[in-house]
Amino acid sequence: MRIVMIGSGYVGLVSGACFADFGHHVTCVDKSEAKINALEAGEVPIYEPGLEAIIQQNRSAGRLDFSKNLAPSVGEADVVFIAVGTPSRRGDGHADLSYVYAAAREIAAAVRGFTVVVTKSTVPVGTGDEIERIFRDEFPEKDISVVSNPEFLREGAAITDFKRPDRIVIGTEDTRAVEVMREVYRPLYLNEAPLYFCERRTSELIKYAANAFLAMKITFINEIADLSEKIGADVQKVAKGIGMDKRIGDKFLHAGPGYGGSCFPKDTLALVKTAQDFDSPVRLIETTVAINDNRKRAMGRKVIAACDGDVRGKKIAVLGLTFKPNTDDMRDAPSLTIIQALLDGGATVHAYDPEGMDAAKDMLGPVIYGNDPYEIAAGADAIVIVTEWDEFRALDLKRLKTIMKKPVIVDLRNIYPVNEVTKYGFGYFAVGRKPEK
Ligand code: NAD
Repeated sequence: MRIVMIGSGYVGLVSGACFADFGHHVTCVDKSEAKINALEAGEVPIYEPGLEAIIQQNRSAGRLDFSKNLAPSVGEADVVFIAVGTPSRRGDGHADLSYVYAAAREIAAAVRGFTVVVTKSTVPVGTGDEIERIFRDEFPEKDISVVSNPEFLREGAAITDFKRPDRIVIGTEDTRAVEVMREVYRPLYLNEAPLYFCERRTSELIKYAANAFLAMKITFINEIADLSEKIGADVQKVAKGIGMDKRIGDKFLHAGPGYGGSCFPKDTLALVKTAQDFDSPVRLIETTVAINDNRKRAMGRKVIAACDGDVRGKKIAVLGLTFKPNTDDMRDAPSLTIIQALLDGGATVHAYDPEGMDAAKDMLGPVIYGNDPYEIAAGADAIVIVTEWDEFRALDLKRLKTIMKKPVIVDLRNIYPVNEVTKYGFGYFAVGRKPEK
């Protein structure tokens, strides 16, 4: 099959590289000259474990190429995926679909024979209908079938998620498109990944409902964490105890500083807006969004409380900036709000992240960056663990104790057992567990 991926970001590049790895011929297109130039020069513009090797192998095999211009490859393609961004629209929180519609028009202009155009971007219910209307009204002579195929991969584990998905959701009732999509995913089907066909609108809603449910699960355990702290329970044990029930499951029950990233915040908000438009409000999700928004700033206050209620003139060392480990993605990362709260409180913030510092520099105020945890911890009044990168899981606590001004650790990811930290004389403040002062 000849596949074109429009948008070569976290989703487009991973999906494109993996489709090439399945044996398809793939062209990844992007408007960003910098991205395409980097890719053509053999560099990978994002950090995603395992991606570089797959790109290299498939380029060498002649199955993967890159372009700034979609027209030549779209003219030859069987399937064109739209994987451009759908950020929150400024002002009202609806998904901004301008990139999707612009891409759709460009694709339609370049299409030659029968072509399947697939929205892989997360798009609100009805977007496929609107794309179809645009094609019908503006390009009536073109033979295009519009399909929804939302992506569920997680950054940091994107290759495995793409190659071993729990399911592949495909929204179309067009039998020609069904055949094409079966062929696209045939290698995964052999891997026993179920293809789940449904109507296009249903498929669009599945993506939002899935993200909203996961965001709600995280928010649920975060509130149980706050309650645990107040009443002297341990949220990790509560999570384990409820997670052993198969009806609940043990995933997404890690209490922390609130969900962030490029998907959950914008997708929960967009679902809330869509539901309001259809006069069918999703109040659980509205509340989830509100709780999570408050939580990030509250985590800043938690750090301040751990520093005896005042951080003015104090040095705070922040470990981890990205919204989760194994990515360089800083979009809507909780660290942004937490650090702002600390700066507002008068703290000097020093930070270290293995992959996120370049992006962070454009998004954060006056933060001083270091090269490793020990450099930023020297002379600090507290360490705050915001992202659970592996390299923060086994810090040399003895060394930290000697170089810090005050031995205080605020662990917003609960990665340390209490007794391991307290035996070195640290004050330890975790999430949903009794503080040890
Ligand atoms: P991204 O910002 O990393 O990438 C989008 C890319 O599209 C950018 O490189 C941009 O330059 C390019 N682009 C925009 N308009 C274009 C056009 N007309 N032609 C060519 N290129 C164009 O975004 P992302 O994180 O990959 O997300 C893409 C979509 O996938 C979003 O809808 C998102 O919600 C969804 N999604 C993301 C994830 C994730 O983990 N990042 C997971 C599942 C779904």
